[in-house]
Amino acid sequence: MVVEDKLPPADNNVVWHQATVTRRRREEQNGHRVVNLWFTGLSGSGKSTLAHAVEERLHGLGVRTFVFDGDNVRHGLCSDLSFSPEDRTENIRRIAEMVNLFLEAGVLALTAFISPLEKDRQKVREIVGAENMLEIFCDTPLEICEQRDVKGMYKKARAGLIKNYTGISSPYEPPTNPALHLNTGTATVEECVEQIIDLLRRKGVID
Ligand code: ADP
Repeated sequence: MVVEDKLPPADNNVVWHQATVTRRRREEQNGHRVVNLWFTGLSGSGKSTLAHAVEERLHGLGVRTFVFDGDNVRHGLCSDLSFSPEDRTENIRRIAEMVNLFLEAGVLALTAFISPLEKDRQKVREIVGAENMLEIFCDTPLEICEQRDVKGMYKKARAGLIKNYTGISSPYEPPTNPALHLNTGTATVEECVEQIIDLLRRKGVID
């Protein structure tokens, strides 16, 4: 076996090719800037609903977007990963790297993952860059998420059929300083979408 196979890319004659068409140039061409809207919250708190509803609004405004959804990613890019703490961390790391590429490509990336641990969200911030990541806390009390039980998973978790279920048998650490704290248990979807669009305007991402 060739020794170089074991070396990390930086020591292995792999050199990043500097593109001349940069993110800034793509943003100028698009007529809007790009960020990552990182939705976090319990299962059933409203992450996917809001990510897709905001995408729909942005698409109508001519903004280039893409939604990364927990379940979809786990069917493909991360299909080899379990829900153990180590694999959850690797899941988030891969998503953050993917988000980075989409931002470089001039696409506003919306991500809907429970991402229960502060240290993992911190890792995203490091990979994506704090200035690029707007953390949206979908704050729905556990009781309401359980009543909604969108995918029937809480019932299974309560019955002990699912291990490591966030909120039941695995912790959720609320963000301490999110860009937006939404009361997704009481507010309507439309009200939450308005708040997110306002945030994007205030940050100068869209006009
Ligand atoms: P998650 O992606 O966090 O697991 P989902 O978006 O799949 O959650 O489910 C959230 C459920 O809550 C949906 O049925 C949605 O219609 C409902 N809901 C009620 N109010 C809101 C709100 N303000 N924001 C998002 N979802 C809401």
